[in-house]
Amino acid sequence: MDAVPFYAPAGNEVALFEHAHRNRLPLLLKGPTGCGKTRFVTHMAARLGRPLYTVSCHDDLTAADLTGRYLIKGGDTVWTDGPLTRAVREGAICYLDEVVEARKDVTVVLHPLTDDRRLLPLERTGELLEAPPDFMLVVSYNPGYQNVLKALKPSTRQRFVAMEFGFPKPEAEVDIVARESGLPPGRVVPLVRLANALRDLKGQDLEEGVSTRLLVYCATLIRSGMPLGEAILSAMIEPLTDDPEVRKALLRVAEFTMG
Ligand code: ADP
Repeated sequence: MDAVPFYAPAGNEVALFEHAHRNRLPLLLKGPTGCGKTRFVTHMAARLGRPLYTVSCHDDLTAADLTGRYLIKGGDTVWTDGPLTRAVREGAICYLDEVVEARKDVTVVLHPLTDDRRLLPLERTGELLEAPPDFMLVVSYNPGYQNVLKALKPSTRQRFVAMEFGFPKPEAEVDIVARESGLPPGRVVPLVRLANALRDLKGQDLEEGVSTRLLVYCATLIRSGMPLGEAILSAMIEPLTDDPEVRKALLRVAEFTMG
């Protein structure tokens, strides 16, 4: 079996995931981008010894992309399972990242899978698949995007056990970033302090705060020998905004925090 990828829990999420899996309940992870949701799911799949199918949803993603379609192969038309169908057949974990981005017909496919029937009807092949006990559906979404059209509908949301993810507490984030980047914890501490100062600006000028992912990138650049200021600019400021005024404000916060 593959090694279990490192994941530092923030609360009861490991137990919740295990209970949900054991009781065949689907799980919804809410939280900003880059805060560890994907890593958590990868960790849990390895821990439970289940294969994982991850799909990053986007606005062109249709139900057929998940369930499958007929493809022409050497003159024949052959049915090819999509990732959701494969996960159901194999009793795997299927993770749909940013599920609200997908087309509306995706929710139609998810509904019968997320109630106690746990069914996946494949209209095109005439099959009706019953999900085995080990199959689990996990979806994530980012409530931070202030897009009403993209909010998850209550009728869908209420089919899942849900948990909220946030950025790790400072001490935990220092450990995570040090471990992921190889930069000594003492050098990560000021970066985490800066990330939190920048996160405090969220809402005023910024849609999203610095993610743990960006902190890991920044620490990785520093560890690789990039000067501190340049690493901060490229990994913690430029990715956050395209607005020159906001960029200036972020730079001032960085100068002030890092001294
Ligand atoms: P999301 O799926 O929420 O967008 P990811 O799971 O891809 O975010 O997290 C981005 C990166 O942040 C990971 O690759 C990992 O390096 C790091 N990370 C964030 N939180 C944790 C955590 N709790 N434990 C271990 N690594 C983490």
